[in-house]
Amino acid sequence: MRPFNYQRPANAEEAVAMVDPMGVAGQGGAFLAGGTTIIDLMKLHVVTPPSLTDLGPVGLDEIEEGNDGTLHVGARVTMAKAAEHPAFRDRAPVLSEALWKAASAQLRNVATLGGNVLQRTRCPYFRDNVSPCNKRDPGSGCAAIGGINRLLAVLGTSEQCIANYAGDWANALILFDATVETMSGDGGREIPFADLHVLPEDHPERETVLGDDELITGYRLKIPGWARRSLYVKARDRDSYAFALASAAVALDMDGDTVREARIGLGGVATVPWRAREAEEFLSGQSLTEETAMRAGEIAFDGAQPYEHNAFKVPLGRNAVAKGLLDAASLDLAGEAQQ
Ligand code: SF4
Repeated sequence: MRPFNYQRPANAEEAVAMVDPMGVAGQGGAFLAGGTTIIDLMKLHVVTPPSLTDLGPVGLDEIEEGNDGTLHVGARVTMAKAAEHPAFRDRAPVLSEALWKAASAQLRNVATLGGNVLQRTRCPYFRDNVSPCNKRDPGSGCAAIGGINRLLAVLGTSEQCIANYAGDWANALILFDATVETMSGDGGREIPFADLHVLPEDHPERETVLGDDELITGYRLKIPGWARRSLYVKARDRDSYAFALASAAVALDMDGDTVREARIGLGGVATVPWRAREAEEFLSGQSLTEETAMRAGEIAFDGAQPYEHNAFKVPLGRNAVAKGLLDAASLDLAGEAQQ
């Protein structure tokens, strides 16, 4: 690992003032929260920030509910703490399950929600620090498009990059009308969560709308009553400690067997956290049957662009959507899931 300055601010304002967005050699300083991504990438020399600004002392580690039901979730709340919180576990299980099904217990105990939504792709060429990679080295090319691309995206890709977004929680959070609260040298702002990530298009090196010195301080969201009927389906190579090959975050507002409103997020298959809005619109007013669930899955993957090794993600993703819809519809909200 290359030398870097370690900085320890007293609060978020001080952290933003310290972070040194200009840095050296094209890379600015970085914030350090759980460190579960950035330390790995620094060891690999994929990122080489001249300084790390440790957010350990700055607080931002509580989940609080206002009188109007708005939840405020601090950016330094750990994945484990959020997964266990009753507001998620009991009222929006998709937000809890997406966390429980991610990473390992050790990682969930230290990784934070602020860092979690910003985790970097698992594209092997991004991390090998040798191959052409437009995300790591803009303009150098993309080794994955003609190379090994089994894990990579089929939705939201561009000719410059097909890297998949690797996280889980963001695919669930995108179902809710959440906002991201940030702080920077220009002050604070709120960003709709659905607008945080940007498609790779011609600039895959840019992954979010955040400025170089902009710190996520928390999230605000309301959990509607129907979010109890929600869950997270995750298909992966092994049943623990593996990234999604395809995942579906599903929440349903039902009137008997009829869908009033469906919300569907996709993971493992897209370059950004992905909302399947056309599939949601198709389901509105439909009876939820195996046939309509499968059709929704097909619609969710309309326009998918598979590559040599990842075409299996299209049927896998369709089936994940259908399974999520059928399982969510069969939840017995008084207790156990119906068999
Ligand atoms: Fe780099 Fe993206 Fe291509 Fe992977 S898919 S090699 S991250 S440009």
